[in-house]
Amino acid sequence: MIKHQGGCFCGNIKFSTEYDPMLVMACHCKTCDKMLGVGTGVTAIFGEEEVSFEGELKRYSLRGSSGNQLHYEFCGNCGNNIVTKPDLIAGMVYIHVGSFDNPLAFTPKVEIWNKTKPVWFNGEGCIVESFEDNGSLERIQMLMENLDQRQ
Ligand SMILES: [Zn+2]
Ligand SMILES: [Zn+2]
Repeated sequence: MIKHQGGCFCGNIKFSTEYDPMLVMACHCKTCDKMLGVGTGVTAIFGEEEVSFEGELKRYSLRGSSGNQLHYEFCGNCGNNIVTKPDLIAGMVYIHVGSFDNPLAFTPKVEIWNKTKPVWFNGEGCIVESFEDNGSLERIQMLMENLDQRQ
């Protein structure tokens, strides 16, 4: 029975698994910053044979912050970076939780590369407002207030 499923933004890539991840981890390294385009990568780790993929993933390989080879696999159409395969732990796949249909199903237990962790990650003192929805009106108001203060 399928337990978790997901895919890329455009729908060319789909994946599913019957398992819960072995580990969910947040990574604050420079490589995740660049490759995932966010200040933090959150990944759910599975055995390679535990996840089945549909569609053709493209691959980009690089040397990660740990010095080991990492293979990033993404949709060639929409560019969604879906999975990382590390040489260090061969046979494991790191699925980026944002690619799952329900990313909220995953909560990280471990975080790494904390020395480059963004200050806001645990809400430490910089967030002054947060919104349940997109907060459009309030955000525009904040932008306008800051615009007024510019020369
Ligand atoms: Zn896609
Ligand atoms: Zn990382």
